[in-house]
Amino acid sequence: MSKVRVYQLAKELGISSKELIGKLEELDIAVTNHMSTLDEDTVEIMKELYYEEPKEEIEDKKQIDKKNTKQKKNKNNSDEVELQADKKIIIMPDTITVQEFSEKIEKSVSEVITKLIGLGVFASANQQIDFDTAASIALDFGIEIEKEEEKEEVELGLEQTPDKPEDLKERPPVITVMGHVDHGKTSLLDAIRNTNVTAREAGGITQHIGASEVEVNGKKIVFLDTPGHEAFTSMRARGASVTDIAILVVAADDGVMPQTLEAISHAKAANVPMIVALNKIDKPNANPDRVKQELSENGVLIEEWGGDTICVPVSALKGEGIDNLLEMILLVAEMQELKANPNKLATGTVIEAKLDKSRGPVATILVQNGTLKVGDPIVAGASYGRVRAMLNSKGKNIKKAGPSTAVEILGLSDAPEAGDKFNAVKEDKIARQIVEKRRAKIREESLNATAKVSLEDLFKHI
Ligand code: GDP
Ligand code: MG
Repeated sequence: MSKVRVYQLAKELGISSKELIGKLEELDIAVTNHMSTLDEDTVEIMKELYYEEPKEEIEDKKQIDKKNTKQKKNKNNSDEVELQADKKIIIMPDTITVQEFSEKIEKSVSEVITKLIGLGVFASANQQIDFDTAASIALDFGIEIEKEEEKEEVELGLEQTPDKPEDLKERPPVITVMGHVDHGKTSLLDAIRNTNVTAREAGGITQHIGASEVEVNGKKIVFLDTPGHEAFTSMRARGASVTDIAILVVAADDGVMPQTLEAISHAKAANVPMIVALNKIDKPNANPDRVKQELSENGVLIEEWGGDTICVPVSALKGEGIDNLLEMILLVAEMQELKANPNKLATGTVIEAKLDKSRGPVATILVQNGTLKVGDPIVAGASYGRVRAMLNSKGKNIKKAGPSTAVEILGLSDAPEAGDKFNAVKEDKIARQIVEKRRAKIREESLNATAKVSLEDLFKHI
């Protein structure tokens, strides 16, 4: 039998090389990287492991089906699997004409049109239908289809090749503060900023850019000012993740409240570690033990209680415990080994954006990988431009921003939306092309939506 490399087996199992390496290490099987070769026994063991107990995260039925199909290739022993494998999976673009779609699924145009009418969509042979419509019709015929990856954007330079380990450098952690209203989120951020303001700066008016940076023991920490809940919901709706650690602020005199629970579930869903800031400990009616009890009842077990969540008592009002909190943040960040590659075109996420009367579209963005420079052509959601100027969190003009830097940028054609991803690209032309394509897609989607709605209206009147 020929040697199997880690990445080959990972591909076959439908998991990432990193995940496979992790699993191998759990089992005390030493591997160096994704090119390492595996012996026959190991390969067998891993196949058993992954085929016998599909991973919990894979709830998506499609993925399970895929897995079953693969299972069939390897082991010809289950009827159910046989059935699953008979299903065809066809790759399809985002939108497709009825004609092309019919050819792909090997049905007649009239059969497809009949099904479309059943869905309330009237389209002729040359009209486009969107992927979701195509998918539901295909399913009706017992055929499964999958979305084609957006190759165009890859060709245009938005491809994200994984960074080589030797190119990765440590980067600062990005923190979001969450918690119930009035428990002291804003006060805590203010207190944190104050610990770091030198006497000279204190009097100066600094421009607010939606994020702040502090330095502790020579290490940087980035705080997003956007209320954590919004950051998590709007960002996650777009598949963006910007937070490395979530600070959960709980007022010691009030305890776990509805938005505390919401915050806990956001952090858990995003798989982001939490640090509890037990605030308002200066209050006479503060009751830390009760809060710890309530937290434990809601799935947050702090260290003192045998769990692994760090809890730091603080008073945002009096500035007490803030240094300790910052040190704990660095400790948790260190365990995460956060890294990025500063030597490439920047990518990241839009934190907030607005149209400023005098300055035009202004966006606060978080550089997550690469380095953004003044003059770089850039794409952010459906807007593009060239970075004309960059302000850091202290309101200073800067020329370049590396990984984990929040900056306000000028020079975009429109205000993008919070949660939009951004990419610096090689040429203006590329930025324009990408955005034109994205805009066309948005137009088409909204046209399709209108067509469906008006049809529903039509039926209402019959
Ligand atoms: P947010 O809604 O979570 O942003 O809460 P704020 O920061 O606006 O604080 C709500 C109220 O609690 C304000 O009146 C603060 O002055 C007060 N507050 C915040 N932190 C503390 C604290 O540590 N001790 C006391 N006594 N009051 C606090
Ligand atoms: Mg507030």
